[in-house]
Amino acid sequence: MSAYDLLIKSGDVAIPHVGLRRADIGIMGERIAAIAENIPPEGSSRVIDATGKCVFPGAIDSHFHVGIYRPFRDDAISESTSAASGGVTTILSYFRTGRNYLDKTGPYGEIFPELLGLSERSFLTDYGFHLTMLTDEHLKEIEWLVRECGISTFKYYMFYKLLNLAGSAPEGSNYLMIDTPVDLGFLYKYMKEVSRVNALFKDYGKISLSIHCENPEIIRATNEEVQENPSGNLLKDYSDARPPWEEELAIYEVGVMANQVSCPVNLLHLSSQKAVDAGKDVASRYPQLDFLLEGTLHHLSLSHDMDLGRMAKVNPPIRGKEDVEYLWKSVLDNTIKTVVSDHACITKEIKKGDLWTSLPGFGGTSLMFPILITEGYHKRGLALQRIAELSSGNPARFHNLYPKKGAVMVGSDADFAIVDVNEEKEVTLKNLYTAQDFSPEEGMKLKGWPLYTVLRGKVIFEKGKVVGQPGHGQFIKRPVKLHYSEY
Ligand SMILES: [Zn+2]
Repeated sequence: MSAYDLLIKSGDVAIPHVGLRRADIGIMGERIAAIAENIPPEGSSRVIDATGKCVFPGAIDSHFHVGIYRPFRDDAISESTSAASGGVTTILSYFRTGRNYLDKTGPYGEIFPELLGLSERSFLTDYGFHLTMLTDEHLKEIEWLVRECGISTFKYYMFYKLLNLAGSAPEGSNYLMIDTPVDLGFLYKYMKEVSRVNALFKDYGKISLSIHCENPEIIRATNEEVQENPSGNLLKDYSDARPPWEEELAIYEVGVMANQVSCPVNLLHLSSQKAVDAGKDVASRYPQLDFLLEGTLHHLSLSHDMDLGRMAKVNPPIRGKEDVEYLWKSVLDNTIKTVVSDHACITKEIKKGDLWTSLPGFGGTSLMFPILITEGYHKRGLALQRIAELSSGNPARFHNLYPKKGAVMVGSDADFAIVDVNEEKEVTLKNLYTAQDFSPEEGMKLKGWPLYTVLRGKVIFEKGKVVGQPGHGQFIKRPVKLHYSEY
């Protein structure tokens, strides 16, 4: 007789890159110890009956902004709670120096320990960071960040090269708190250094640069056009002011530059057909770079005809219905490889102002499974196994968490979301477990809510109750193959 600390029994397990299998999963301590057709329940300390439910590997929300608009520790506690309630077990959050976040600049040698300190005992889920380098001094820290700090992914924002645009930052605010440019010349140096460091660590994983692709020179001109002649539909105006072709242009710029210096790139939050096609094009032209094309929950579920108003302002903007359908087609045909929330918790008070002056972004991490299951599985025939790949298996591989995370294998972390794919609930603020006081999805009826979330063998969310505590989450150093000897 085998006895486990936790036994998940009789669920339909969605195994990335394998399929859906009826199986029992035995967990000892923090890890998966056994997967078998039938494990007798006797002797195990706790048994969860998952009959009729789908057992997904815990979601990895690989695009998140903890602490961007609210004090870091408060935001980490409340928004990792929201993530946990939605079946997310690992958050990979973006961080940069400058305004918002910690409102300071300087070397990561000083700022990163502070970030880790604020994170300690603040997360219910496991977590890691993607860091933005903004100065030549930062670029010199990349190798150290990978080797010593467990940071294996970096970020660049193309639209920061001209900062004082409407919709980007308040006039004259010196948003990044630096006096050197972050233009394409800087991106060239940044890519070269990421490429050099990637070659050093190639046996352990891929050191990559995530890029927000929007072209600010074009936005400056199209913004003016729209502001002179608005349509009145706020979200359509915002989309026209940052049109899909400026994303497309930025992606081609990135493709050419990445190829020139062999820098692995993640193309973030593709919002439109033009952006996806450009991403597909550069990916097929430069296959050795293994581009990651990322989609977001909001671009897959919201469109500018939905009358959501400026609270759904986000960069890149919410697009039209045709673009939403094209994004789904690209998820179904495996062009878009990861789906993320781009969660940035913001309140009505903080998001004040008009369409052009209010801050961009909003949260949605806890809707990972409800949106993928309702809009993907139920409406468009997306297989449950593919949902496990988009939300867990692929982000784990692209962001160097595999096989600690993103795998249903003996020895991998016992991270799970146990989901009833047929239970329908209305989106209310209460069932999002967030500090945000609005949601663009509020009132939608969605199927596929998690019943249980398990983090490294510990139940952290159970039938509507958050039972995890801040501090249950650990900082995960990446690449895991470099930092954890067992992988
Ligand atoms: Zn983002």
